[in-house]
Amino acid sequence: MDITVAAVTEEKTFELRPAQLEEPRADEVLVRLSAVGICATDLHFSTFLPTNAVLGHEGAGVVEAVGAGVSGVEVGDQVALAFTSCGVCKQCRTASPSYCAQFDALNFAGARADGSSALSIDGQPVYGHFLGQSAFATHAVVNVRSIVTLPDTADLRTVAPFGCGFMTGAGAILHTVKPGPESAVAVFGAGAVGLSSVMTAAAAGAQTIIAVDVSPSRLQTAQEVGATHVLDSREGDIVERIRAIVPDGLDGSVDTTGRADVVKAAVTALHTRGTCAVVGVGPSENVEIEWRTLLNGRTVTGVISGSAVPQVLVPQLLEWQQAGRFPVEKLMAHYAFADINEAAAATKRGDVVKAVLTF
Ligand SMILES: [Zn+2]
Ligand SMILES: [Zn+2]
Repeated sequence: MDITVAAVTEEKTFELRPAQLEEPRADEVLVRLSAVGICATDLHFSTFLPTNAVLGHEGAGVVEAVGAGVSGVEVGDQVALAFTSCGVCKQCRTASPSYCAQFDALNFAGARADGSSALSIDGQPVYGHFLGQSAFATHAVVNVRSIVTLPDTADLRTVAPFGCGFMTGAGAILHTVKPGPESAVAVFGAGAVGLSSVMTAAAAGAQTIIAVDVSPSRLQTAQEVGATHVLDSREGDIVERIRAIVPDGLDGSVDTTGRADVVKAAVTALHTRGTCAVVGVGPSENVEIEWRTLLNGRTVTGVISGSAVPQVLVPQLLEWQQAGRFPVEKLMAHYAFADINEAAAATKRGDVVKAVLTF
């Protein structure tokens, strides 16, 4: 079918172009997009992917067709989209699809497992299936494992980003840090992921929630969504300042920055039995941690996509959002699909925490 995509251009911006999309195969679903969030990962990949690649991985829309082998998803269903996974490896079979053995091949290779792409431009197959989606498009053909069915009450303009950044930040708290009512938690980096960690820690009832960033406006937002303390990391030793708030150290921390010095601080500031969730992606470098820091019971663990099963966590977060306990709508600014470059620029400048394109 004929669709419109926002393709990566030679200048590494986006341009709306006509494209062709295959019919869904037996295990696939055709979705008409209603909204799609812009994530830092899209902007990063746009700098090195080939011309005409189609990014976008925070989509939500309405099912238009289902493959012959698909059950549990029907035409007309409202759905959110998430990453895809193989469904048969050990991690998938134990409800840990974000650690799927085929994760990179299925989500970043630009094609299905057999190397084909459902997307083409001018008759030439193009890089698609990005994080299972390529949702910078009016329509997407996705594997059923990317589909999260939503209630009819869901506002697709709000729920679109739930499948990536918000799920990541929330899942890091719920599945790894697991704060209780007396817990002290710090979140490093107050972007979309970090702020959703702050909200989730607040929803979980954590007593002390410290947000750390270098942007005064983001720290102010963090305070509005549940942080009890905010620290500008440029204003002196961050571990000492956290200890001034929580003398025993943190029960949990989340790093969303991907910086080695920040991960080190996030681990060093822990209580002896504390857990640090490493979520951010940065340049490959070593993190130096003093040996006894680990020996004394601390845990450091990497977390992909919040260690979430999207079909479980996204509906839960939606319920929380509708009840006012996960106020991510405060972080969003909506743009028309055609204004994708303006939305990307606002994201890069830091003017907007979560830009969402609407169709
Ligand atoms: Zn993302
Ligand atoms: Zn798998």
